[in-house]
Amino acid sequence: MPKFLGKRNFIITQKNKNDVLDKIVSLAKRRGFVFQSSEIYGGLNGCWDYGPLGVELLKNIKNEWWKTMTYREDVEGIDASILMHPRVWEASGHVENFTDPMVDCKECKARFRADQLEDAMCGSKAYKGRKAIKCKEEGKFTEARQFNLMFKSFIGPVEDSGAVVYLRPETAQGIFVNFLNVQGASRQKIPFGIAQLGKAFRNEINTKNFLFRTREFEQMEMQFFVKPKDDEKWFEYWRDERLEWFKSLGMNTEKLRLQPHGETELAHYAKEAVDIEYEFPFGWGEIEGIHNRTDFDLKKHEEFSGKSLKYFDEAAKEKFIPFIIETSAGASRSFMAFLIDAYNEEEVKGEKRAVLKFHPKLAPVKAAIFPLVNKDGMPEIARKIETDLRKNFRVFYDDKGAVGRRYRRQDEAGTPFCITVDTQTLEDKTVTVRERDSMEQERVVVDKLSFYLLNKLIT
Ligand code: ATP
Repeated sequence: MPKFLGKRNFIITQKNKNDVLDKIVSLAKRRGFVFQSSEIYGGLNGCWDYGPLGVELLKNIKNEWWKTMTYREDVEGIDASILMHPRVWEASGHVENFTDPMVDCKECKARFRADQLEDAMCGSKAYKGRKAIKCKEEGKFTEARQFNLMFKSFIGPVEDSGAVVYLRPETAQGIFVNFLNVQGASRQKIPFGIAQLGKAFRNEINTKNFLFRTREFEQMEMQFFVKPKDDEKWFEYWRDERLEWFKSLGMNTEKLRLQPHGETELAHYAKEAVDIEYEFPFGWGEIEGIHNRTDFDLKKHEEFSGKSLKYFDEAAKEKFIPFIIETSAGASRSFMAFLIDAYNEEEVKGEKRAVLKFHPKLAPVKAAIFPLVNKDGMPEIARKIETDLRKNFRVFYDDKGAVGRRYRRQDEAGTPFCITVDTQTLEDKTVTVRERDSMEQERVVVDKLSFYLLNKLIT
C-alpha cells in the first residue's frame, strides 16, 4: 500500500480506496466521532450517533456555516419546526414526486433503487460478490414501482388520514412558508436571504457509504430572494461563495469540483443547478446543491394556502413574487467530507502516525495540556493553564504516558496544539506549544496562551 505523504499528497489508489474508508470508519468509532445508532441492538440502518469528538466537529461545521451565512446584513436566520402542515408537502410536490423507483429481487428478496444499480451488490449469501445488475439481466427483478421517501406519522391520538404528518425531508419549506413573516419582522428588502439548519429525514431505499446516504441527517440551507431579472447574477454569486467556504476551511481544492446539472437532470422546480462535489474514496459525490428555484415555491404555496406571498417593492411601487436562489448543504455529508479530507497517515522518525489535519476552527479539541512529568509542581501549573483556557476553549488534560504517545493520541483526534509544561516553565513561565501538522515547537509565555490560541482560531 502506498505511503501517505501529507495532506496535499494524499494518495488514494483504486486498490486502497475501501481501506481508507474502513480505516476512517474504525477511527471514527474508536475515538468517539461516530457510533452506529442503537449498536447494542444490532444497529439501525441509515442512522448514526455522534460521539464526544464527533458532536464537537459537527457543531463547529454548523457554527462556521451559521456565521458565514447569517453574520451579514442581507441574511436572517430561522428555526422552523420539523412537523409542518401536511398541505406544505402537497404544495411542494413532495407527496406526489418525492419518490425513487424501487425494485425487489424475487430470489434474494433484497430491495434496490432501480436508478442506482451500478454499484449495488446482490443480497444473496450464495452469490457473494455478485453485482445486482447481473441479477437484473437474468430477469430476477420485479417491475420498478415508485416509493415515497417521506416518513409518515400521525399528529394527535387518532391514526386516521386527517391526522397524517410527515417528518420534513428538507429544511427549505420552513423558510418558504415564513418568507413574509421574516421579511416583515426584520424589515429586509429584496435581495435578502433566510438561513436554517436542522434535521431532515428521508426513508432512503438503500443507505450506504457511512454518513453519505442516511435516513436521518442534518441540512444547512439558505434561500435568497431576488428580483426575477437578477436571478442569474445571484446564482453565480452564491455558487462561488459556497465553493469558497469549503476551501476556506482547509478542504483540499483538488478534491472539490462544481458539477452543473444538464437540462435533463434538473429538478422540476429548477431553472439552473450546480452541485459542489467532493471526491470521496468511493468517487465524486454531492455535498451541496445550488439551485435557481425561480418563483416555483412561493407560487405553489400561494396557490395551496390561498395567501398572498407577493413582495411589495416600495421604490418601484410594484408587487411581485421573488425568484429564489437556494444553497442546500448536508451538514452530515460535509462532516464526512471534512473527516476524510483531514485524514492522513505519515511516517515520523520511522514511526507511523495517523493524523486528522482539521482546520483549527473545526477541530473538536483546540489544545491539549501536558505536564512533562507528574512532579516538581508541573501538574499544578498545567491544571491552572487548563482552567484558564477552559473559559474560552475546549481543551484536554493528559498526564498519562510518554509525551510522544500523548502527541500521537492528540494527532488522531485532530487537536491542533499541544502545550507542555516542562522544566523551563519553572524558570521563565513559558511553555512548549507544538503544532500538529508541522510538528514544530515554539515557546509561548503562559499568560499569553489564550491570546495565542484565539489568534490561530480567527485566521
Ligand atoms: P442525492 O442526489 O445524493 O440524494 P439530493 O440531490 O437529493 O442528494 P438535496 O435534496 O439537494 O440532495 O439535498 C441537499 C443536501 O442534503 C445534499 O447535497 C446532501 O449533502 C444532503 N443530503 C441529501 N440526502 C441525504 C442523505 N440521505 N443523507 C445524508 N445527506 C443527505
